[in-house]
Amino acid sequence: MSIAPTKAKLKPWKLYLDGKWQDARSGRTFTTINPATEEPLCECAAAGAEDVDLAVRAARQAFAEGPWPRMAAADRGAALLKVAQLIEKHRDEIAELETLNQGKPIGDSSRVDVPLTAACFRYYAGFADKLEGRTIPVRGPYLAYTLREPIGVIAAIVPWNYPLLLATYKVAPALAAGNAVILKPASQTPLTALRLGEIIEEAGLPPGIFQVITGSGRECGQAIVEHAGIDKIALTGSTETGRHVMQSAAKNLTKLELELGGKSPNIVFADADLEEAAKGATIGIFLNKGEICTAGSRLFVETKVKDQLLEKLVGRAKKLRQGDPLDPQTRLGPQVSKEHRESILRYVETGKKEGASLVLGGGVPPELPRGWFVQPTIFDGVANEMTIAQEEIFGPVLAVIPFESFDDVLRQANQSQFGLAAGVWTRDIKKAHRAARALQAGTVWVNTYNLFDPTAPYGGFKKSGFGRELGSAGIEEYTQLKSVWIDLS
Ligand code: NAD
Repeated sequence: MSIAPTKAKLKPWKLYLDGKWQDARSGRTFTTINPATEEPLCECAAAGAEDVDLAVRAARQAFAEGPWPRMAAADRGAALLKVAQLIEKHRDEIAELETLNQGKPIGDSSRVDVPLTAACFRYYAGFADKLEGRTIPVRGPYLAYTLREPIGVIAAIVPWNYPLLLATYKVAPALAAGNAVILKPASQTPLTALRLGEIIEEAGLPPGIFQVITGSGRECGQAIVEHAGIDKIALTGSTETGRHVMQSAAKNLTKLELELGGKSPNIVFADADLEEAAKGATIGIFLNKGEICTAGSRLFVETKVKDQLLEKLVGRAKKLRQGDPLDPQTRLGPQVSKEHRESILRYVETGKKEGASLVLGGGVPPELPRGWFVQPTIFDGVANEMTIAQEEIFGPVLAVIPFESFDDVLRQANQSQFGLAAGVWTRDIKKAHRAARALQAGTVWVNTYNLFDPTAPYGGFKKSGFGRELGSAGIEEYTQLKSVWIDLS
C-alpha cells in the first residue's frame, strides 16, 4: 500500500503584518511539504530581519497607543470568545489543514487539536476579566495594592508537533491579558498559524495586536530573539534551541519562558491493571507518532509482570493502523520531515549497538515507501543509562526498562536531565501518591496518560524548561505585578 499523491495544492500565504497580508520584504518564499506524500503543499513568505523589525514596530505601536490593552477586560474576553467560535465553525477545515501539513491522523486533529484549541481560547476569554490585584496589609498609614498589568510585546515561537494548539497555549492567555503577540510557527508547519491569523482578523482584533511571521528558526527566529523591542519570548522547542535562545535573549535581558524537551518515565507496578497499563503505555508513546514532548518514552515495568505487559503492548502496537493520515481509521501518520525520520532511525541503530533488544519495528514500513513513516518500535532490555533512554527521540520508539522495587524505580525515573511528565500505574493509592510526590516532573498522571485541559497548569522541571502554561498560572506568566502605595495619614 502506498499513499496516492493528493495534488492538494493550497493557496500561497503571505505574512500577517500590522493587520495586512504582505510579502516578505526580500520577496523570498519557502515550500511547505505534505509529509504523507512528500509533495509540495504551498508557498509561504520567508521573513527576514527587516520583516521582524516591521512586526515589532507595529506591535509596539498597537500596545502603546492602540485600544487592546486599554479596553474593558470583558470586551477583550468577548473578542477572544469570537475567535473560539470561529475555530469551532471552521473545525473540519482547520483539522484537515493541520493533518495535511503535520501528518497527524485526522481523528486526532479533529477530536484533540482543534477542539482543545477552541477550548483554550474560550477558557482565557473567560479569564480576561478575572485577573485581579490584591490589597496588601503593609505597616503604617498606607493603602498598598497590586495591579496585574500586561508585559507588552510577546514573541511566541512554537514547534511543529502540535502547531495550532501549542501556539494557542501562548497566544490566548497573552492576548487575554492585554499584550501584543507576534507568532512564529515552525517552518515545517506554518499553515494553521496563518489560518489563525485570518480568524483573528475576522474576529476584529486591532491591527498589530496579533501578527504571524513565517520563516526559518535560523533567520526569522534568530532575528526575533535578538530584537530589543520584544518584552518577552515564549518558546516551545527542543532543549538545544532553548539554550541558544536564552543566550540570545541575555543580550537585551528579554524575559523568557521555555517549554522544552522530555524523556518521561511511565511506571507500571506489578499490582496495576495490566490491560489498562498496556493501553496507557500505547497512548503514551504512539500518540502523534511519538512527536509529543510528554511521550512516555521510558516504560519502567516491575520485573515480575514485564513479559506479560510486553506481550499485551506488542499486540496493541501491531494493531495500530499506519497510513494515510486523512483516513479516519489511521492511528499512526508519517513523521513530520525527512530529516526527523533519519534522526529517529539513527537512534534505532544506536539502541541496537548499545545492546537493547528490538522486539518490534525499527524501520520504514515496506508497504509505505512514500511519506516519512517509521514503524512502531519497541526495545526491551534497555538500561536507563543507554542513549535511547536518556536522549529525546521524539518518535514512535519505546524503551522498556525492568525494575525491582519502588525505591529502585524512583531513583532511575529521576535519573534524567528532563522533568516534563511522568506516569504511574498501580492499584495502591499510597504508592500512587508517594510516587507523585517523589517524581521530578511538572505533570504526573496516575492510571492514565497524556491528558491535557486548559484549566490544568503544565510545564517542566529541570531541563524541560521553566514557566507554566494553561490554568491561572498560564495567564499570570503574561502579566507583571505592580505595587501601588498611597499615604493615608
Ligand atoms: P525546535 O527547537 O527545532 O524549534 C522550535 C521553534 O524554534 C521553531 O519555530 C523554530 O523555527 C524555532 N527556532 C529554531 N532555532 C531558533 C533560533 N536560533 N532562534 C529562534 N527560534 C528558533 O523544535 P521542533 O523540532 O520544532 O520541536 C520539537 C521539540 O519541541 C522537542 O524537543 C519537543 O520536546 C519540544 N516540545 C516541547 C513541548 C513542551 O511543552 N515542553 C511541547 C512540544 C514540543
